[in-house]
Formats: sequence, structure tokens, C-alpha cells
Amino acid sequence: AAQGARLAEVMDLIARTAVADADFLGKLDSIAGDGDHGQGMVLGSRAAAKAAAAAAEAGVGAATVMRQAGLAWAEGAGGTSGALWGRALEAVGAGLSDEAAADAATVLAAVRAGAESVAASGGAVPGDKTMVDATTPFAVALSEAGDDLPGAFAAAAKAATEGAEATKDLVARKGRATTHGDASLGHPDPGAVSFARHMTRIAEYLA
Ligand code: ADP
Ligand code: MG
Ligand code: MG
Repeated sequence: AAQGARLAEVMDLIARTAVADADFLGKLDSIAGDGDHGQGMVLGSRAAAKAAAAAAEAGVGAATVMRQAGLAWAEGAGGTSGALWGRALEAVGAGLSDEAAADAATVLAAVRAGAESVAASGGAVPGDKTMVDATTPFAVALSEAGDDLPGAFAAAAKAATEGAEATKDLVARKGRATTHGDASLGHPDPGAVSFARHMTRIAEYLA
């Protein structure tokens, strides 16, 4: 139950980060998208944080906290990134247990499965200018880092940030931005940027 409460705290951190970033991400998504990425992240993460807090309060374990958070995010956000974040959190939950508190290696493996689920469920590959340009380097860095939770998270967040920045030089091959030709050239992908910012905040929280 203690681990569920910790995870609910992390979901609350994500929701607060989403609120702080909302305007910036909305503007970024308006360059080659429909401008709603900031709002979608706020709606999804707030719903997820609320569901996680309620689940943790009810005393269920870590797996159920994350599963509830994922379902709430997808439903609360709508939009492409909301569905992907929702599935990712569910995948994190699937790697955890309700009974035993997971050790660092198990937590890291669960988080990695969550990041990997984005490519698996959205069908994008690195270079398509999507979230996957951040989630894949993040997952690779986790697989190469050791089992020290703060250290591995910091290395993976750095890889996600570099991956997100590199999307500036790409033209979208997946998602809504494909309908805007090369309008996004010179600007990073909103979904990759938001993912990297959240992972960076979590790394700071864990440090
Ligand atoms: P919508 O495009 O439905 O308005 P958002 O604005 O919330 O949704 O999210 C846009 C982000 O979704 C993009 O910046 C991109 O990172 C991500 N995205 C879109 N399609 C895919 C996909 N197939 N795989 C991974 N990420 C994707
Ligand atoms: Mg959008
Ligand atoms: Mg939209």
C-alpha cells in the first residue's frame, strides 16, 4: 500500500507539471497540430492523479493504482497522446504487483515496459517525429542503466530529452502533424517534448 501511495504522489507531480507546461505545449502543438496537446495532457494527468489518489486511499496495491491511473488518463484526455499515455501507465501497472512492494529493478522494468508500449500501441518508429522519438531512447537507456532507481531514471530522462530535441530536424510521418507538410520543421514534436519533461521532473523527484 505504501508503494501505491508513492505512485499516487508521482501522478500528482505529473499533473502539476502538465498544468505548468500547458500553454507552452498548446502553442507547440498549434504549429503543425490542432493546438490541444497542453489541454489534453492537463485533462489526462488530472484524471489519472485523481484516480491514483482514490485507489491508494482505498489501500489497493501498486499494480491497481497504475492500472486505474491509465484508464482514467485515456478517458479524461481524449486525443492520440492520451490513449498512448493511458496504455503506457497500464503497462507499468502490469509490471508491478498488488501484494509485494517492487524492488528497484522491478520498478525500472515496469517503467521500461510502459515506455515500450508507446511504440507498440501507436505503430510509430523512431524518426516519425512522435512521442516514440523520446520513449524509445528512454527505454533503451533504462535497459543499459543499472538497478539504481534515481541514477537509471536520470540517465533515461536525459536520453528522452535529447531524443525530443532532435525531433526539430524531422518532418512528421505519423499522427495529425502529417497533414501540415513540413510546417513543423525547426520545432520539436509536442508529445516527445512533454514526455521528456515529465521524465525529467520524476528524475528530479527521485534524486
Ligand atoms: P491529437 O493529435 O489527437 O490532438 P495530442 O495533441 O494530445 O493529440 O498529441 C499529439 C502528439 O501525439 C504528437 O505530438 C505525437 O507525439 C503523438 N502521436 C501522434 N501519433 C502518434 C503515434 N502513432 N505514435 C506515437 N505518438 C503519436
Ligand atoms: Mg493535438
Ligand atoms: Mg486533438
